[in-house]
Amino acid sequence: NYGRKFNFSPGPAIMPESVLKKAADEMLNYQGTGISVMEMSHRSKEFEAILKGADDNLRKLLNIPDTYAILYLQGGAHYQFSAIPLNLLGDKKKADYIITGSWSERAAKEAEKYCEVNVVTKPTKFNTIPDKKEWKLSPDAAYVYMCDNETIFGVEFPDIPDTGDIPLVADMSSNFLSRPFDITKFGLVYACAQKNFGMAGLTIVVVRKDLIGNARKDTPMLMDYKLQFDSRSLYNTPSTYCIYIAALIFDWMVEQGGLEAFDKLNKEKSKTIYDAIENSNGFFYSPVDAKCRSRMNIPFLAKDTSLEKLFMEEAGKLDLIGLQGHRSVGAFRASIYNAFPLEGCKKLATFMKDFQEKHE
Ligand code: PMP
Repeated sequence: NYGRKFNFSPGPAIMPESVLKKAADEMLNYQGTGISVMEMSHRSKEFEAILKGADDNLRKLLNIPDTYAILYLQGGAHYQFSAIPLNLLGDKKKADYIITGSWSERAAKEAEKYCEVNVVTKPTKFNTIPDKKEWKLSPDAAYVYMCDNETIFGVEFPDIPDTGDIPLVADMSSNFLSRPFDITKFGLVYACAQKNFGMAGLTIVVVRKDLIGNARKDTPMLMDYKLQFDSRSLYNTPSTYCIYIAALIFDWMVEQGGLEAFDKLNKEKSKTIYDAIENSNGFFYSPVDAKCRSRMNIPFLAKDTSLEKLFMEEAGKLDLIGLQGHRSVGAFRASIYNAFPLEGCKKLATFMKDFQEKHE
């Protein structure tokens, strides 16, 4: 027993224990090389094999066809807020942004440096996704941008919007690999690793190959998807250890039964907590419209706000940690990515019920 707690942190987030153990086992001597992956050249055949393993497994997990490239980049998800307009605008002057929370809002603000941003839709409060009938898509946009799961507000798209021939671009930082989806409906999907597939320092971009090669001339070289694609993400030193950890997680995901298995588990996990909220007779409540509640990040509040501090303290005593809501929403948020166990969700639900009985 390592004394590990149920960590509801929104990211960097909980990792599978078996992956941490494997990384620890291999730390001093990776598969007989006599060195750690951290100490290994990114040009070595061992590292090449790690990268290929990650690539093969990710393609298998998501069913990614050869018409899509996978890039292993640094700079976090924020880097893509800039890289996307720089690479995808081409000769177009406009991009469409669906704004459903603070991450898509921030991405749109960055894009304004490079083009006209058309706001397709933006609710007055970030607790819903406005009806598609009210969206204002523009026919001459270079791409349509969305954030599939808004981590802070807990708003997740229940389905993939149809944008016709205009490439759809999605930030999936907080729900990548949590359910199967049809990658061919997107021009580009990206996600930082520190929530659903590892540690901070790696961002994966899956992009349709025909969208590569149109970067603005003044694009910083490492942001240019073509340079990264042509060099198989090895133009400069990539975040080697992060790629290794992602490779271990992809192995683990395949072993666990792939995305269908995680989809099922994630539904059950989130239902456990939403049921606890709904069955509390208003003692706890969700601020999010039921039709777009996230399976990954569950913000909730207590009707009596004076109980917030006590709730966190008592949860902590039961090893339920990281439940603090984002400063812009307040109260509580349970982030339950792929590696978060069902058992922890059940424990939180039981605690919520007990807490209510004691303090109602
Ligand atoms: N997009 C989403 C949906 C996120 O949740 C986050 C981080 N929490 C980001 C972007 C920013 O990620 P990073 O810190 O890697 O730039």
